[in-house]
Amino acid sequence: MQTLKNLVAGEWLGSDQTWIKTSPFDGRPVATVHAATREMVDRAVNAGKAAAFGDWGRMPIRGRVAILRDLHRRLTARLDDLIDADMADTGRSRWQASNFDGARAIGPFESYCDLALSLENRSGDIDLPGGVRGLWLTRRRPKGVIACIAPWNVPLLMMSLKTAPALVMGNAVIAKPSEETPSSATVLAEVIKASDLPDGAFSLLHGFGAGATGEFITTHPGVDAISFTGEPGTGSHIMKAAATGLREVAMELGGKNAALIFDDADMDRVIEGTIRSAFFNSGQICFCTERVLVHRSRHDEFLERMIAAANQIVIGEPDHKGFSIGPLVSQAHRAKVMELMDTVIADGGRFVAGGTVPVFGDDRDKGAFLRPTIVTGLGPDARFNREELFGPVMHVAPFDTEAEAIAMANDTRYGLATVLWTENINRALRVAPQIRVGHAWINSWQMRDLNSPLTGAGISGVGEQFGRSSLEFCSQPQTITVRVFD
Ligand code: NAD
Repeated sequence: MQTLKNLVAGEWLGSDQTWIKTSPFDGRPVATVHAATREMVDRAVNAGKAAAFGDWGRMPIRGRVAILRDLHRRLTARLDDLIDADMADTGRSRWQASNFDGARAIGPFESYCDLALSLENRSGDIDLPGGVRGLWLTRRRPKGVIACIAPWNVPLLMMSLKTAPALVMGNAVIAKPSEETPSSATVLAEVIKASDLPDGAFSLLHGFGAGATGEFITTHPGVDAISFTGEPGTGSHIMKAAATGLREVAMELGGKNAALIFDDADMDRVIEGTIRSAFFNSGQICFCTERVLVHRSRHDEFLERMIAAANQIVIGEPDHKGFSIGPLVSQAHRAKVMELMDTVIADGGRFVAGGTVPVFGDDRDKGAFLRPTIVTGLGPDARFNREELFGPVMHVAPFDTEAEAIAMANDTRYGLATVLWTENINRALRVAPQIRVGHAWINSWQMRDLNSPLTGAGISGVGEQFGRSSLEFCSQPQTITVRVFD
């Protein structure tokens, strides 16, 4: 079993507050993790300030880019360790860890270098009455210390999408991974420590959220901005903390995403796509479909084929190559999903697939598995249809008209993503703008250029993220004006 410590200003620090991280695959202990104390947060923030407003922040961008490109090479060399760490924390298969949170997760350390180099400074002339002349130029300077607080579902990708733009713009990062996924972030910190990044520019602080490390970080007055991904309720707490000192926040939050399947949809593609959109990563992706709305003329056909496909999904095979599902991230998270499943019958719904915990007859029974589950018959106000489940679970309901489908999709406080299945491009482009979400996919799901911007509507997000938007969040425009005399 590993011991995971905090990286604070270049030093690995333990504390007397530890917890045991267990595997959701079979319940075995993965690591003893040392929680960061308030004093460590203080030290990390002070070292971060010195780096961001000192040599690191003042370094010409090409210098930082060279260090980050070298970091990307070092991470590529440690890819297997990153994948092993991710598997240990999440219990997902090697195929998924490699393809989803592996190489893809270290890419931002390269792509943000390219993007940062392409940012242009703006400039202009000043020509005022009375012959007053001059010129101005606007450049971007680091914001300072940026707290990067990540969730557990795609832990490394979420962390690198926050850390890479912050670093390339000259900020210092205080990275706090979820308490459920401390391992891959620790490998990232090991690689960063061995790189040429100055010590204060990156600190890794482990720990829990409320009343603990997370809160110590977000309430620290020296933190200049907070990039957060997680639940809307947590986002709201963090926003209150950030209000003191008027610190900026960028937040990617939850979803209660609808898929709309129209009467002309290609059902083979729909089934393959909806299996992925509902069950990928055991439904623990913010973009996952939880509400499936099907035109009444195709409803029974869809349901029959979906049930058959869901019942065939491979569960709990770490070496399976291709689509399969692993456990939920923890027993506690499974209990939360099952608590909502317990409301289904009383609210008038029924389970047509899954709804139970699989029995393996081996150590996996100590894990946090759940069968792919399909529910029908619930009204829009049932808790199951209103709250984010974040598990391998969907509800299927019929609709009759396009207008009804749009109204059903929008009947939620969330606004993250939708999927439209139709062969009619006019319908697709007519409907997509009417769904209040940050990302609408047409005949696909999760097909994404990580540089395309994302912003959740409603309680699904605050601010715009990714690509150029993240570089802008991580920097402060500064205009310098010079008077020119004859
Ligand atoms: P969470 O909100 O419980 O925790 C996220 C992080 O915040 C963790 O590191 C946690 O320790 C920390 N935290 C918790 N309370 C805190 C507090 N009071 N102060 C400071 N930090 C605190 O979320 P989770 O359960 O880890 O992740 C699942 C959620 O994340 C889901 O709602 C999911 O939809 C969302 N998510 C959204 C996106 C997106 O792009 N919109 C992506 C991934 C996950």
